Amino acid sequence: MITALTIADVKKYVNEWKKNGESIGLVPTMGYLHEGHASLIKRAREENDRVIVSDFVNPTQFGPNEDLDSYPRDFEADKSLCESIGADLIFHPTPEEMYGESHFTKVHVDTLTEGLCGAVRPVHFDGVCTVVTKLFHIAEADRAYFGQKDAQQLAVVKRMVHDLNYNIEIIGCPIIREEDGLAKSSRNTYLSPEERKAAVILSASLRDAGAMIDSGEKDLGKITALITEKIKTEPLARIDYVSAVDFTRLKPKKTLDGDETLIAIAVYIGKVRLIDNIIVR
Ligand code: AMP
Repeated sequence: MITALTIADVKKYVNEWKKNGESIGLVPTMGYLHEGHASLIKRAREENDRVIVSDFVNPTQFGPNEDLDSYPRDFEADKSLCESIGADLIFHPTPEEMYGESHFTKVHVDTLTEGLCGAVRPVHFDGVCTVVTKLFHIAEADRAYFGQKDAQQLAVVKRMVHDLNYNIEIIGCPIIREEDGLAKSSRNTYLSPEERKAAVILSASLRDAGAMIDSGEKDLGKITALITEKIKTEPLARIDYVSAVDFTRLKPKKTLDGDETLIAIAVYIGKVRLIDNIIVR
């Protein structure tokens, strides 16, 4: 597996591969890879001739009071994981390499970025869309793989690709969970043992909602109320949002219908903000 630290280095290999008519799958990550990331890399491996994993803690998607400095990093472990799955190249640039001394351009997706996580993370999605655009261009990828874990990000990136006619296919992949249901996340390492136990309330509340839906309930007011009540039973949990929206435009919905509905939650467990969701089809 190739380790590339510069954009020029990635382009050198990409040019070669493109000349040979090989397809390229890209998995954008912030590193500290776990089985959630691994599932995306495996899928990319199955569907493309070449697989590029980017491993970059992107500073522009963190707000001033967020966890940029403390975000966990372990590049050696990331390299081993990517190599074991058979990725061709891992791209690990510095912020200076990605943004140079100055950077005047950003990509903004309207409306879809205002609610859910966008409400408390106002600069986040501009940072995501900008870095992802740069990575798409650097990797000249045919396909890019994103987890449903970050459902708003997936919807926003799909919208950006649609609106700006990017020549890339966006593939959404299912959420990988711990045995007790907690969605795997690099940020789970911030939880104390007591908080880790409490964090199971997110997936448990969504599981209850799933059961309610399976039994025929279509009123999203009742479904989100059930989730809220369940989360409130956990003393360490504080709700940021419990929302039901349509998965294309992220507009609030009242009733389950034939369209995909995203039921998304963000909950603080102590100081750690965790997200989870289900999509009802
Ligand atoms: P991150 O490194 O957190 O920016 O995540 C990189 C990619 O991995 C994103 O597309 C995430 O949605 C995806 N991802 C993170 N956690 C999971 C998970 N538990 N299951 C599936 N995909 C995930």
